[in-house]
Amino acid sequence: MARVLHRMREMAVALAAAAALLAATAAAAQPRVSAVRLGEHPDKTRFVVELSQAAPYRVFTLGKPYRVVIDLPQVTWNIPEHRQGEVDTGAIESLRYGLFAPNRSRVVLDAKGPVRITDVFRLPPQDGYPHRLVVDVTRVSPENFLQPRERDPIASANPLPEAEQRQRDVAEADDDRLTIVIDAGHGGPDPGAIGVDGTYEKDLVLTYARHLKERLEQAGPYRVVLTRKRDIFLKLNERVEIANEVNGDLFISLHANATRNGRASGASVFTLSETASDEEAAELAAKENKSAVVAGMDLEGTTQTVSQILIDLAQRETMNTSKRFAGMLVDELQNEVRLLENSHRHAGFVVLKSPNVPSVLLEIGFLSHEEEIQELKTASHRRTVNSQVVDAVKQYFQWRQARR
Ligand SMILES: [Zn+2]
Repeated sequence: MARVLHRMREMAVALAAAAALLAATAAAAQPRVSAVRLGEHPDKTRFVVELSQAAPYRVFTLGKPYRVVIDLPQVTWNIPEHRQGEVDTGAIESLRYGLFAPNRSRVVLDAKGPVRITDVFRLPPQDGYPHRLVVDVTRVSPENFLQPRERDPIASANPLPEAEQRQRDVAEADDDRLTIVIDAGHGGPDPGAIGVDGTYEKDLVLTYARHLKERLEQAGPYRVVLTRKRDIFLKLNERVEIANEVNGDLFISLHANATRNGRASGASVFTLSETASDEEAAELAAKENKSAVVAGMDLEGTTQTVSQILIDLAQRETMNTSKRFAGMLVDELQNEVRLLENSHRHAGFVVLKSPNVPSVLLEIGFLSHEEEIQELKTASHRRTVNSQVVDAVKQYFQWRQARR
């Protein structure tokens, strides 16, 4: 018996070693992108991705709004100096890229109008250039923009593997800690707001989310679940699903704002409502709700209720509790942090729609404000904001306990 057990243990060790080797090989085999370029030609706009190896691809166009999407296997983006956002080259207005699913990277090109893909091809290394994927597009009239059923993706002969689903994280049955879900907004090909200095909202709020998890776990018997732990895209309804799957007691979505004029500054807290508290809140909700479009998803033919959020009776109680927590959060924040006027507002944010999990959205400040963005990036400001959040969370659970 002992010998059998010993053999089994040996086999398990060998299997684990093989799995580790496989994982290491997969990471080593991951293509690296060293450049993305756009060029304007008389008859076309050319987009080029430079890669460390030939990779499978899938390229397609989307309408409403007009976009070109280039899907690749998971790649490493090795272009630190490159800024995403507005590019204004030929038919293309702006450009974004990132991890769209666990094994799928994506580039999204926003077109200025309807376009058609005229050519997609790969080039081997030559004249000092590495492997390249070339995508040519031309402008077409709206009438000549292909209907969805005619728009077959152009794919490499060796196909891309299916996009993997996210891993599910469910509470252990005997875990009776309070569960707080921290949601870092945006991610992957959706950078969120882009700061005056090139900072992406998705990166900034992820640093706040990770730190907040640590602080909360030190502060009490809390189980803290992050909706995303890395730079990856997640649909808004997936974030809501996670909060429900883990039986969240509280959901806090972290964001940072940006405005065109760059004058606005300060943090603010939002809760869900059918009608927005004010015009700015409505605009902000519309912007935050656009995440799927930004990440290159096809919403044509789906009924979007982005401007009109429907709230059922069962949600009212949760909404009142959310407002209660939002009030506590504003009270705590205003001790230490500069707040926007009317710091508690409400609007139809899709990410706050959990029927059973009280949810708030915290905009930590404005990336469009020259001084505020510098402050937001400091560890000391992150500590200050997060301490206030921790205090508000403690207060909220005390209040909830007292009501029982
Ligand atoms: Zn945001």
